[in-house]
Amino acid sequence: MPRPIQAFISQSALAHNLDVVRRSLDHAAQAAGGSAPSIWAVIKANAYGHGIEAAVAGFSAAQGLAMLDLSEAVRCREAGWGGPILLLEGFFEPADLDIVDRYHLAVTVHTREQFDMLARARLSRRIDIMLKLNTGMNRLGFSPAAYASAHARARQLHDQGVLGSIGKMTHFACADGAQGVAEQLQAFNDATRALPGPVSVCNSAATLRYPEIAVARDHQPHWVRPGICLYGASPFADVPAGSLGLRPAMSLRSQLIGVQHLAAGAEVGYGAIFRADRPMRVGVVACGYADGYPRHAPTGTPVVVGGVRTRLVGRVSMDMLMVDLDPVPAAEVGTPVSLWGQDGPAVDEVAAAAGTIGYELLCALAPRVPVTHGP
Ligand SMILES: *Cc1c(COP(=O)(O)O)cnc(C)c1O
Repeated sequence: MPRPIQAFISQSALAHNLDVVRRSLDHAAQAAGGSAPSIWAVIKANAYGHGIEAAVAGFSAAQGLAMLDLSEAVRCREAGWGGPILLLEGFFEPADLDIVDRYHLAVTVHTREQFDMLARARLSRRIDIMLKLNTGMNRLGFSPAAYASAHARARQLHDQGVLGSIGKMTHFACADGAQGVAEQLQAFNDATRALPGPVSVCNSAATLRYPEIAVARDHQPHWVRPGICLYGASPFADVPAGSLGLRPAMSLRSQLIGVQHLAAGAEVGYGAIFRADRPMRVGVVACGYADGYPRHAPTGTPVVVGGVRTRLVGRVSMDMLMVDLDPVPAAEVGTPVSLWGQDGPAVDEVAAAAGTIGYELLCALAPRVPVTHGP
């Protein structure tokens, strides 16, 4: 028998979260008197740990899919996705363009080197691109000063039959925080106003917080690029996903595989960092950092045991972690444990306790954890 740990992926939660985004955009479009943007569901990093095939099924109502890995793009095609696919980092070497061509992928272009590769490529059809502008995050993209000439180079490649549509794209650094997007949006508008083509600027935080930005009033196609919210986690540190109407798509579940009775003063786990201040029962859960549970989660991190919320105690080890059973007197070996998801704490709560974000925990689900799919 395998260890009792399991990740459950809910296809209806994926579809529901996409619909939450869709409705919020439709509402913003109505209010602003423009048209709602299309949605590229971001499914990079194995769909934030949920599995590419599950994401293709769950996001069947999206207009497009966006990711980084060419192999993940190919898996989407093999899973039957015939719609647009955008590679968010574009391509990395000339041979990648064979796959881009064969599987009809759209690419982000953010360097001169990529233009050089495009100019030398032998392609069977035009490639649609999103030309990336660096508006201040200083990660990917052409500077505002270099953007017009990059766009001219793209138009030249278009005229030579290499490129199809030429879109405009940037990425916000602080859409979830106090700084917001105003400065970057201004830089984007200044650099791209005169250039026609599809537009894409919003990640989850910007899509949910500033949906009006994505509303098209210029008769150009607009696209948003939500990721994390589609999986039912929050892009905002101070706003729980549930209050945004989102549902967790991944539930990490296990069981108690042991119970210990501690005397007052007894210690638990590696480093003996937890000491019982009274007699207590401690449950041993088949889940550790080799399953993707964060090792930095401290005593007090929420865990649900037998439907009751309790706390982690002591240090998380590779294959196990320990929990306080005082609030769950009926718990015994075999009692179900929910680490995060539908019937557990929100992944964002566990992440916050461990000093990280839900994104990291979802992406870090270990390959050894068996995954089941359901409604
Ligand atoms: C990851 C990513 C997104 C999605 O970000 P979320 O915060 O998960 O919504 C959007 N655009 C780009 C370029 C990305 O790399």
